Amino acid sequence: MQDAIRNLRAQLNACAELSGHEQGTLALLRAFLTENTALSVIPMDGWLLATHREGDACPTYALRADMDALPGADGPWHGCGHDGHCAILCRVATMLEGRVLNRNVHFIFQPAEETGAGARRICDTWPGLGNVERIFGFHNLPGYPIGHLLTRPGCFACASEGLSISVTGSPAHAAYPERGENPADLLCGAVLRLPGMTEDILRGDDRLLMATVTGMKLGDENYGLSASDGRLWLTLRAHRDEDLRLLETAIKDCIRAGCRERNMTCRFEMRDVFPDTVNDPIITRECEDLWRESGRIVQRLTEPMRWSEDFGWYLKRVPGMYFGIGMGRECADLHTSGYRFDDDVTEPAAEAILQLLGNG
Ligand SMILES: [Zn+2]
Ligand SMILES: [Zn+2]
Repeated sequence: MQDAIRNLRAQLNACAELSGHEQGTLALLRAFLTENTALSVIPMDGWLLATHREGDACPTYALRADMDALPGADGPWHGCGHDGHCAILCRVATMLEGRVLNRNVHFIFQPAEETGAGARRICDTWPGLGNVERIFGFHNLPGYPIGHLLTRPGCFACASEGLSISVTGSPAHAAYPERGENPADLLCGAVLRLPGMTEDILRGDDRLLMATVTGMKLGDENYGLSASDGRLWLTLRAHRDEDLRLLETAIKDCIRAGCRERNMTCRFEMRDVFPDTVNDPIITRECEDLWRESGRIVQRLTEPMRWSEDFGWYLKRVPGMYFGIGMGRECADLHTSGYRFDDDVTEPAAEAILQLLGNG
């Protein structure tokens, strides 16, 4: 079976598809699970549900794997190892054959994690989630010893969102800029005020709250014309959803006030919205104990991950835990060109996950 799983991972890797376009990936997973397990496999709207059922009296747990790839120069590629996540869950599914857990287990193969859209849509549209008592998700983590389990009660990964700001003034001859409205100082002023805004919200607390300028555009290379249009793109990031909302509001208020004073208009758009991923502290400690008792190495993160993960949407509805699986100290960072998923992690990862399902 281990060879079959390696083979499946290679096929998923070759089939790499972008967020929301995972049709080939879904077909591979469906074929594998139908052939190799007794799970009931149900194609859903853009995702796949496979269920190990022992009866309505049993509590239901859920496991989630993401499956989308990243855009690359030579087409989509699995730079985040989501092909490996699918292989790990498929391995768990095969390990369940013939076992009695006194639990039902849903395997959720989810699209579009990278854009933050996949989990949110499943949470909003799938009533089955209402019967789930516990949910688990995971990510492979380069930089940590292979197979080590990385945990954190409470916040595991940051909330983040892209904020796109458009400001429109009015053009003027470059010799008479006072006759138009140029948004340059408004947008630059807002950028300079960002550190002060985050400080005001945090009031000395050492939670993370940051705004990164990812892009800015003002007017054009036209020396005869004073700029009238400006765009500013920010990524906001925080340990807590509440802080992120406060920062978003402060930035919008600052831009709106400037526009009112100067007779300009503004427009805002939110992109790639990810909630904070917050683990249930009791479940997390229980899982840590379970793993440690069986000799696995558990490393508790001192700080939440700065990146975001759409698994946070499930954790708003169902208690559970998101955790990391070490991919080796030498493994290149996620999303970088040197990154490769190491198949040696699949077996220990699947065993650790199987343990979370209990044995009746
Ligand atoms: Zn990623
Ligand atoms: Zn990922």
